[in-house]
Amino acid sequence: EDGHDMTRRKVSETQYVGNVAAVANHYNARPEIGVEGREFSPIIGLKKFNNWIKSVLIGKFAYRQRGKVLDIGCGKGGDLNKWKQARIALYVGLDLAETSVEQAAERYSRMQRANFDAYFFAHDCYSKALSDILPEHLQVKDLYDNVTMQFCMHYAFESASKARMMIENVSRYLRKGGVFIGTIPNAELLLSRLNDLPEDDEELRFGNSCYYVQFTERKHKGIYGHQYRFFLTDAVEDVPEYLVDWENFEALAMEYKLKIVYKKPFHDILQDEQASRDFGPLLGKMGVVNADGESAMDADQWEAANLYMAFAFEKV
Ligand code: SAM
Repeated sequence: EDGHDMTRRKVSETQYVGNVAAVANHYNARPEIGVEGREFSPIIGLKKFNNWIKSVLIGKFAYRQRGKVLDIGCGKGGDLNKWKQARIALYVGLDLAETSVEQAAERYSRMQRANFDAYFFAHDCYSKALSDILPEHLQVKDLYDNVTMQFCMHYAFESASKARMMIENVSRYLRKGGVFIGTIPNAELLLSRLNDLPEDDEELRFGNSCYYVQFTERKHKGIYGHQYRFFLTDAVEDVPEYLVDWENFEALAMEYKLKIVYKKPFHDILQDEQASRDFGPLLGKMGVVNADGESAMDADQWEAANLYMAFAFEKV
């Protein structure tokens, strides 16, 4: 009745595997406050910066001719507008947190002049195949030009089987030449911060006024399941996360025909793109810097920003 009759929501009963219930409950419980409410966030500068980073990634790697996009871990649909700007034709969003998926569908249905179709599904994309939930016409070989996973892929690194299911889901319907983009915590940086702690430190925790990272072990046997708890003011409340061993991830991705084309910590992205014609002006428009060119982030937010890095892989 709102003109978006292509919207379909399938919010299924999700069966949680492993540590995933804590993650789902956390994100389900976070209220949708809208763009206006967001302005009062104590880390509004950081949130705007993260949005700018995602716009840069989309601007660099989105297919320019009515692209088809698969957003795994889409959350509340915070990137719908960015994809609209990229003039896509199709958006398929999936997330573990049912409430978030409903809010994403809601956001899409309220969008003005959304010149693309969108579908939303609640699904554990790290334990189950996408073919379990997507209707036939959305699980076609070579269908998608882009797969995007923003601030969510690291949750899959709890175990080898989850990481494999995740990357299988990413790669399966991505066309050759299509690009997989994402943002994850920088494991190398987290480990070096952990190593910087005094040897007799038993808390294994570091951070500042807006975030902390707390490990339970200094060294971990094996590649998967190296857990830490992450807290970020007004965003993530002490959720278990897992280190993404980069070398292993690159090798795993290659097994699924995904070849690395881009990898950068967030600070470097700002450094490299702030003067660019495409993305420099966006800094002001998106409120990352004010009219005088001053950052909307304080020093602590700026430090938290660089916990993350962005990547892109091309399907070969
Ligand atoms: N991509 C969105 C964004 O950039 O705003 C949301 C990011 S939020 C920090 C992380 C998201 O990952 C949450 O919405 C969470 O529910 C989702 N997630 C975690 N584990 C998942 C899984 N197994 N399958 C699908 N989504 C998952």
